[in-house]
Amino acid sequence: MSDSSTSFLSKLPYRGRFAPSPTGPLHLGSLIAALASYLDARKNSGTWLVRIDDLDPPREVPGAASSILESLQRHGLHADEDILRQSERGSAYNKTLEQLHSRGETFLCDCTRAMLGPLGTCQQSCAEHQHAVARPAATRIKVPANTKVEFRDQLQGQQTLSPDTNNFLVHRKDGLYAYQLAVVVDDAYQGITHIIRGSDLLDTTPKQVYLQQRLGYSTPAYCHIPVISNAQGQKFSKQNHAPALDNKKAAANLRAALEFLMQTRPPSKLANTEELINFAIAHWSTELIPGVMSIQATPDAERL
Ligand code: GLU
Repeated sequence: MSDSSTSFLSKLPYRGRFAPSPTGPLHLGSLIAALASYLDARKNSGTWLVRIDDLDPPREVPGAASSILESLQRHGLHADEDILRQSERGSAYNKTLEQLHSRGETFLCDCTRAMLGPLGTCQQSCAEHQHAVARPAATRIKVPANTKVEFRDQLQGQQTLSPDTNNFLVHRKDGLYAYQLAVVVDDAYQGITHIIRGSDLLDTTPKQVYLQQRLGYSTPAYCHIPVISNAQGQKFSKQNHAPALDNKKAAANLRAALEFLMQTRPPSKLANTEELINFAIAHWSTELIPGVMSIQATPDAERL
């Protein structure tokens, strides 16, 4: 994937990643994202990493991280380097928060949920009344009203800042680091050049690009693929009880994921995961993936 705005990336060694949150086992939706990032990395002779985004212990399901890692292995998706866990990265996130704070780019905010605006923005001018802010407080990044952030998503086209980017959270009141902060710090730390993930994360990306700019990091190339939805139009997700993948049916699962991504169908004589993956790498093309936000699962896929 490349265009003029990301041409400098083509000079860097390709590094991609799959970064699941351990909130449940791997399901077809997450396999699709993992497979797409894996195939794109392999096709570009790149490195593919797996990171466990275990940033939010209350949302974590015990055993989910190891179950996801096991499923990836069983589906032939092998990471090239050790797994990074966000739960072990607190000091890096803290250092970044201190850096932003020392430059006057953040402010404390003690607004309750009810006090925040409809988009979760601080409307009580906490930034101007820092001495009056009660602890514990959240930390927000200042985003000046006229800020312009633009980037081009390979599939979804030109994107710009959404209104809820105003003063977004980088550290939560309950002491947890915000996803936006952690993802940016870790993608930079891991030297990620290409991010392929579900379109449900498209609207978080301008915030990440803004943080990258404030921190002097380069912006990776982004490609947000459609998410799979059920017959009710809901995203196939752990929250919507998407069924866990059966590792014993890895070959069928890979075929379903490739079909969803509109890739060349592997011949039926290819029966094992390794052969399927090798075929899929050889025939991989992001251009075949529809540039839409979601696609409804076929009844077959819902039964996997
Ligand atoms: N951990 C996030 C999730 O599972 C994805 C992070 C990312 O790909 O940037 O939704």
